[in-house]
Amino acid sequence: MAAGEPQADCLFCKILAGDVPATIVHETKDVVAFRDINPQAPTHILVIPRAHYANAGELGAEAPELAGALLAEAAVIATAEDIADSGYRIVFNTGAGAGQTVFHVHAHLLGGRGLSWPPG
Ligand code: 5GP
Ligand code: ZN
Repeated sequence: MAAGEPQADCLFCKILAGDVPATIVHETKDVVAFRDINPQAPTHILVIPRAHYANAGELGAEAPELAGALLAEAAVIATAEDIADSGYRIVFNTGAGAGQTVFHVHAHLLGGRGLSWPPG
């Protein structure tokens, strides 16, 4: 399997292909953002690369420029969603033990309410 190639059994690759519907809020040639189906905050958006990498570690190691592009788009979306001034959180759950359930890397962009620290 070549790094970045679409995976037939990947939910987010299916969203990218248009085979599973999603509410897309922003897209570029490399990155797509859509609303989480089970939002944990008033704004809860998933920002993903079009290329399939399993998690943030793999993305950072194998495609660091793409990782940077993903973070840049998260910031653009935060401004567009009007959560930049009030503050927001970008989360990459990495590995099942940290709560990752979809193994196509995604940044959770969360905002629109107070966010406590430490996270659960
Ligand atoms: P993880 O647990 O891997 O960090 O995050 C996966 C996220 O994907 C969860 O927040 C979950 O609500 C969201 N999710 C799961 N299935 C779907 C879906 O079919 N559509 C959308 N938009 N989000 C989904
Ligand atoms: Zn995928």
